[in-house]
Amino acid sequence: MNHILVSGGAGFLGHHLCGVLLKNGSDVICVDNFISGRKDNIRDFFCHPYFELIRHDIISPLFVEVKRIYHLACPASPIHYQVNAIKTIKTNVLGTIHMLGLAKRTNARILLASTSEIYGTPEVHPQSESYLGNVNPIGLRSCYDEGKRVAETLMMDYHRQNNTDIRIVRIFNTYGPGMAVEDGRVVSNFIVQALKGHPLTIYGDGTQTRSFCFVSDMIRGLIAMMDTEDFIGPVNLGNPEECSILELAETVIRMTGSRSKLIFHPLPEDDPIRRCPDISLAREKLNWAPSIPLEEGLKRTIDYFRKQIGLGG
Ligand code: NAD
Ligand code: UDP
Repeated sequence: MNHILVSGGAGFLGHHLCGVLLKNGSDVICVDNFISGRKDNIRDFFCHPYFELIRHDIISPLFVEVKRIYHLACPASPIHYQVNAIKTIKTNVLGTIHMLGLAKRTNARILLASTSEIYGTPEVHPQSESYLGNVNPIGLRSCYDEGKRVAETLMMDYHRQNNTDIRIVRIFNTYGPGMAVEDGRVVSNFIVQALKGHPLTIYGDGTQTRSFCFVSDMIRGLIAMMDTEDFIGPVNLGNPEECSILELAETVIRMTGSRSKLIFHPLPEDDPIRRCPDISLAREKLNWAPSIPLEEGLKRTIDYFRKQIGLGG
């Protein structure tokens, strides 16, 4: 059995990953409950002979035969993961236990899509994998941050106790075509607002930073990590170029030719002030670094959203 399972395969990253895996000749099983993913994302694959969709919630066990598991299932946008915080924790804890149980039973290699959020509000900068993080265990983001920290713990314990073949990737902010108009993350929000001529919603004063990685670079990194031998991670994947939210807003306004103004809202609780990956380990172990500059990635994403909201292009 050479099937590759992608949990969360109908989501933003998941559907790009399924597409690349199918192009590479793999047999793909997409498992999704559509809590934040969309059938439209995977519609093009339905007629592909090596694509299967299982509508399933991973908080229940799943019995299939697989060789590899990309475990991506979990809403990633703060507005989506906070709508039902308990469900988010269950997905990260029970869901990861079930994916690990499946990996153990089938002897499959399993890759966890973890996150830069496990560093919380970082006290060191940039963040390398050896930094243990500064996470609020009782805040609004904890369902996601602490959920992913437990997911990493489970991965390591299955590895130590059962010799499960694991890979852990810590993904930093990733964007690109295929994001939902209502996704709620900053890049999609700003582009949609700018294209519609609405004010761009800056949370806080906009001096907080993120680093934005284009989706094709991220998918290349995930596959490189899955395919690498003798290295389980965790490894940071992301763009090491830091950008303030205000700079991002100004760039999007310039690139869309929009006349939108900026509107300032309070900074959400525990919103990290600085975030930027140290990707030395990914460079060394995977020979990986992002190749798409921010403006090039934004251009492709703006073109995509123009079509999504019916502005042609
Ligand atoms: P997304 O919300 O677009 O996709 C997540 C997918 O998982 C959706 O299709 C959703 O329906 C599915 N899902 C959620 N809970 C499920 C459950 N209980 N059972 C089955 N399916 C379930 O998010 P994304 O941006 O594609 O992120 C994918 C993964 O990468 C997530 O685990 C996220 O934590 C991680 N990640 C992403 C980013 C990023 O910037 N995109 C950053 C850090 C980490
Ligand atoms: N943000 C913003 N306006 C928006 C959406 C997000 O200013 O409309 C900010 C948010 O407060 C955070 C950053 O942009 O500081 C990135 O937010 P996002 O939700 O994309 O991802 P996060 O890295 O916070 O998980």
